[in-house]
Amino acid sequence: MMQPRVVLIEDNAQNRYLVTFLLEQHGYQVSAASDGAAGIALAKQSRPDLILLDIQLPTMDGYAVAAALRAHEPLGDTPIVAVTSYAMPGDREKALAAGCSGYIEKPIDPETFVDQIAAFLTVGRAGDGE
Ligand code: MN
Repeated sequence: MMQPRVVLIEDNAQNRYLVTFLLEQHGYQVSAASDGAAGIALAKQSRPDLILLDIQLPTMDGYAVAAALRAHEPLGDTPIVAVTSYAMPGDREKALAAGCSGYIEKPIDPETFVDQIAAFLTVGRAGDGE
């Protein structure tokens, strides 16, 4: 059984809860970190299928985190999906420039969120019934 593994880097506990809940409901395995340094360590250690990255993080913002993840060769091809604030249009371009594969706007839409994530996943397509 293919269970896509996601590392979630998000400092807001409510958002962590919601995203984890939605993804786990659809068979994803989620491990979360609440700041950039912990998230980078977690991603290096667990080599996930996808990284979901909040841009507004304390200490080290999402752009710096994305650049650090991309600089780590084993994670060079891992999809990194930025979660950007709706109010800040410049976030998206900066996120892509920092190495993110794409972005999802906050607030996330629980109705479409999991489909948005699935679109970034290339693993698990073949032969996985779900
Ligand atoms: Mn945040």
